[in-house]
Amino acid sequence: MSIDGSTRLAGVLGWPVSHSRSPRLHNFWLEQYGINGAYLPLPTRPEQFAAALRGLAALGFAGANITLPHKQAAFKLCDTVDPFAARVGAVNTLVLTGDQIAGSNSDGFGFLAALQEAVPSLSLQGKTVAVLGAGGAARAVVAALAQSHVAQIRLINRTGPRAEHLAHDLRVAVTTVRWGERNDGLAGADLLVNTTSLGMSGQPPLDLVLEALPAHALVNDLVYVPLETPLLAQARRRGLRFVDGLGMLLHQARPGFRLWFGRDPEVTAALRRHVAADLIGTNAGA
Ligand code: NAP
Repeated sequence: MSIDGSTRLAGVLGWPVSHSRSPRLHNFWLEQYGINGAYLPLPTRPEQFAAALRGLAALGFAGANITLPHKQAAFKLCDTVDPFAARVGAVNTLVLTGDQIAGSNSDGFGFLAALQEAVPSLSLQGKTVAVLGAGGAARAVVAALAQSHVAQIRLINRTGPRAEHLAHDLRVAVTTVRWGERNDGLAGADLLVNTTSLGMSGQPPLDLVLEALPAHALVNDLVYVPLETPLLAQARRRGLRFVDGLGMLLHQARPGFRLWFGRDPEVTAALRRHVAADLIGTNAGA
């Protein structure tokens, strides 16, 4: 890579940000497509976030990804947001034009694109989906499922009121299931999505029995460290189809790359290997 006066710049703002895989994957694409661009990790303390964003605009950055803990703060600083981000109340992708900040949220796109890539024949319309968790990732997943016209979303969260707040904020009808009833709550579900951090390395295990899932069910874990979580290992043992969390991580990056660098990048086996090689023995983070 050579940097010169016309190099287009983008990056990811987070705190901390050193664990982010976004520089690794965007710079892989830049090199693959021979684009004169660079993508940087931009560690940004919460109290300096607004000033940092103004600085990027002043420096002529094409845009940025936003990761924890800034997704909601960024949302509030945007001049415009896309409808999906407006529904979720958080942005992860910014385009900077002069002093204008346009925000969008590609987490729902990444979630759906990863499922579609893994199971090309998949149609979610009319399906029953069990979602574990009601945090930031669950918001994007539930909004994407609602847009896909699923028949029922069962929201299963340790802290019940958080699930109810999510449904209220997103204006989505969900059936809440108590955490203590999570095993039975899977009965008849076509798709199970784990959006909790349970099962991630360094976190407690996810205590869940998949017996009640029908044989055709698909199991998706958003956790991608390790790539095959105990939940996915259990799905494998039961002969169920399953999708790991890396696909969402890779696909959610595509809209930003297209907006800043002018090309819709491909998620290939080579990219998966390149990013997966960096995941072993580390912590998670987009
Ligand atoms: P978050 O906002 O902190 O939400 C965490 C969720 O996990 C909450 O529902 C929380 O329940 C639940 N949880 C945590 N500890 C628990 C425990 N001991 N028992 C039961 N439930 C527990 O986090 P997030 O941003 O949504 O991220 C969640 C996971 O998704 C992380 O592992 C992250 O790496 C992954 N993720 C992956 C991608 C991807 O691209 N693959 C994208 C985004 C996130 P309470 O509400 O009861 O606290």
